[in-house]
Amino acid sequence: MDQNISKLAGLIKNSPRTVVVTGAGISTEAGIPDFRGQNGIYRKLGEDRVMRIINIDFFRRQPEEFYKFYRQYFHFPPVEPSKAHVVLADMEKNGHIYGVVTQNIDNLHQKAGSKKVIPIHGNAERYVCPARHCQAEYETSYVDNYPEVVPRCSQCNTILKPDVVLFGEQIYSYIDAREMILSARLVIVIGSSLTVYPLAGFVREFSTFTQDLVIINKGPTYMDHAAQIKFDTNHTGDLLEKVNRLL
Ligand SMILES: [Zn+2]
Repeated sequence: MDQNISKLAGLIKNSPRTVVVTGAGISTEAGIPDFRGQNGIYRKLGEDRVMRIINIDFFRRQPEEFYKFYRQYFHFPPVEPSKAHVVLADMEKNGHIYGVVTQNIDNLHQKAGSKKVIPIHGNAERYVCPARHCQAEYETSYVDNYPEVVPRCSQCNTILKPDVVLFGEQIYSYIDAREMILSARLVIVIGSSLTVYPLAGFVREFSTFTQDLVIINKGPTYMDHAAQIKFDTNHTGDLLEKVNRLL
């Protein structure tokens, strides 16, 4: 393990551009449940049901039912970034990593201070007015304190949409995310088993051009065979802290 820690530090030092790709695993250390994990809502409520309701068509047709469900199950408790988030922000500040592409909607990279973050599934702490002429943005507190189940824009009265990618919608920043990953010399995947496309596809594409792929994840991933180093751990924060000390 220690040998691999110094090896990873060496890879980072020698890489002109390092990009980090994160999934749910990095946020479970901050106390956010993994939707797809053992106690996640996908298991509890059934993936079919979640996909049917957290869906752009359902949102448009039945906003009241959508918001009842969304408020009950997709409401994050207030949590602070984990040690891993904080260390990554520090690494970016010191020029050791270029940016982060994340599947998470918890806003924790941004809260930790990371500047170059591409949240491809959006940000659950923000709501947007989908009216083309308006597009006003709101924070969670506006929706929490809204007197009705379905929150509306204070400027044009349009029903607000959570600023997250619903089923049936395209991911955000598809081109930017792909480009950031493919432009890297080293990609470090943290807390993702790389099953969700298109992100998994970007990492696969990256790894066909270069060998410098590192994976930090509890359990196997679909790209383990292509990784230079694989860390199988739940303690990403401690691991990254040790790596950061060697940079
Ligand atoms: Zn509006």
